[in-house]
Amino acid sequence: MTATIIDGKACAAKLRRQVAAHVARLNTDHGITPGLAVVLVGEDPVSQVYVRSKGKMTVEVGMHSIRHQLDADTSKADLLALIDQMNADSSVHGILVQLPLPKHLDEHLVINAIDPAKDVDGFHISNVGLLGTGQKSMVPCTPLGCLMLLRDHLGVLDGLGAVVIGRSNIVGKPMAQLLLNDNCTVTIAHSQTRDLPGVVRRADVVVAAVGRPGMVRSDWIKPGATVIDVGIKGGTRLTGDVDFEGAVAVAGAITPVPGGVGPMTIACLLANTVIACCRANGLPEPGGLTT
Ligand code: NAD
Repeated sequence: MTATIIDGKACAAKLRRQVAAHVARLNTDHGITPGLAVVLVGEDPVSQVYVRSKGKMTVEVGMHSIRHQLDADTSKADLLALIDQMNADSSVHGILVQLPLPKHLDEHLVINAIDPAKDVDGFHISNVGLLGTGQKSMVPCTPLGCLMLLRDHLGVLDGLGAVVIGRSNIVGKPMAQLLLNDNCTVTIAHSQTRDLPGVVRRADVVVAAVGRPGMVRSDWIKPGATVIDVGIKGGTRLTGDVDFEGAVAVAGAITPVPGGVGPMTIACLLANTVIACCRANGLPEPGGLTT
């Protein structure tokens, strides 16, 4: 058996085309251009690459891209003042503060200062609570992208056994919540999980979000399972958490690294910005872009 390769690149390109079509309609019908502001504190080279690529894709779908590059020693007061200013600016529909922040800045405090309606990363405590209680929220981009790939490949997920490896606030926990909302029976595995291979072997859906190259071995995977590899490690050659070469012979479907989850993350960020813009203007939300 050879697994179907889930083409995240193609899926993300399709989503970006849908976003661009909605942006064009917002512009012609209502004279509105969605705006996404990205704040980068410091000069972390990896973050700089992400921010640059987010800005480029924002412009490509016809949205307004705003970038704030702040010094690494920016004070809490100055950062919070900038967030307040963007919260009050009606031309800014989405605000993203690139993580990680320098050590002297409290990430929770900063993220929770963003207007939840503009929190396109979905990390604000209000959005976490809304997602957890099955209400309309902003959904974190990476898990949302994974869910879209799963739905695209499997259709309905009702009753499937899912294992999420990793319990971070930005990937693992919201991923588990989304799968639960889609009626999966969800297990969250993490660094203290006993018999991880045994736990993974029972799953119809495996989402690996650890950051340890090749950790998930092919003999951990239930034959026919759908495997979503979120992990990325490495510089020029990126590697996922799953032993891809081995897993391809066992899984039913699998995302490659690169070209799987990664492209979906930015596409979902753009989709979230359009949704935030529609909500802010009391317009119907575009179908097909949300959960
Ligand atoms: P994190 O470091 O915050 O969390 C990693 C999680 O892995 C932790 O919850 C930890 O408990 C778990 N873990 C560590 N060792 C383990 C082990 N031996 N067995 C089982 N679980 C273990 O990382 P994160 O921010 O959640 O990101 C996870 C991975 O996903 C990273 O490689 C990151 O680069 C990648 N990522 C990719 C995208 C994308 O768009 N493709 C987006 C976000 C994160």
